Amino acid sequence: MVEKIGVIGAGQMGNGIAHVSALSGYSVVLMDVNAQSLEKAKATIRKNLDRQASKGRITEDDVNAAMERIVTATSMKAFADSDLVVEAATEDESVKRKILAELCPELKPDCIVASNTSSISITRLGASTDRPERFMGMHFMNPVPVMKLVELIRGIATGEETFAQIRELTLKLGKTPVSAEDFPAFIVNRILLPMINEAVYTLYEGVGSVDAIDTAMKLGANHPMGPLELADFIGLDVCLAVMHVLHEGLADTKYRPCPLLVKYVEAGWLGRKTGKGFYDYSGDTPIPTR
Ligand code: NAD
Repeated sequence: MVEKIGVIGAGQMGNGIAHVSALSGYSVVLMDVNAQSLEKAKATIRKNLDRQASKGRITEDDVNAAMERIVTATSMKAFADSDLVVEAATEDESVKRKILAELCPELKPDCIVASNTSSISITRLGASTDRPERFMGMHFMNPVPVMKLVELIRGIATGEETFAQIRELTLKLGKTPVSAEDFPAFIVNRILLPMINEAVYTLYEGVGSVDAIDTAMKLGANHPMGPLELADFIGLDVCLAVMHVLHEGLADTKYRPCPLLVKYVEAGWLGRKTGKGFYDYSGDTPIPTR
């Protein structure tokens, strides 16, 4: 049974996973190589819990209890008694492999390891560990405290017991699990990212401005957010990484990343997290950059 949850990577997703796990009563170790990210993460989690309390969804006591359940660490040694470790670090296979290689020797033999990867093969990541039968994909959506879905991905070696335990945990976190096979980008991103990439092509080819594209998709397709607004929210580096995985993994030119997306990432304009992407977030209201 999962009681103690470890989270690797205190970025947007790691914060959210730590937040919902602690709020659901699990004790959490949140780990990052960057101590500053950990400080920022705790402040962000507190702010997001406070927001839920101010809306009356949880109480002040819930906020304080959840915060007390989260400890931070900069070493893998902190996962020695974890029942599950969710890897939510940078979307780069070499980074994830290095993390898994450092992580596994520190774990209890029956500890389950899950990756929150948006697109990398679970089978391949699992094969690089000492426990492929206790390894699977647990793909949360951003922002984690708000979004209901978790895609659960079995690698070819994932055991049924592992899958069943993670499915049960997902339900305890108040989320809805959907099972996806281990093909590049799974279900949501296989469909969503090519749409975002096409929106960037639409901008690149001058078919419409940032505002026209987002307004068109909100009012014309009834999407709650425009695709470029959504890209900024996800992070343009993450969007590009997923397109590369689709392009390489499915070997189909229809997945080629738009050169304008590449250029934004090269400029360091990664969306909300850097203050600029398809919109500039330095003022009170986001201003389109094209
Ligand atoms: P992020 O850039 O906000 O955070 C990544 C964190 O990982 C950073 O704090 C970084 O310091 C840390 N990190 C890097 N190397 C590390 C190491 N060796 N050990 C420990 N920590 C390390 O990224 P994110 O948006 O939170 O994405 C994290 C993962 O979640 C990725 O695999 C991504 O594909 C996936 N994901 C992202 C989204 C999204 O919308 N952003 C949605 C679902 C899944």
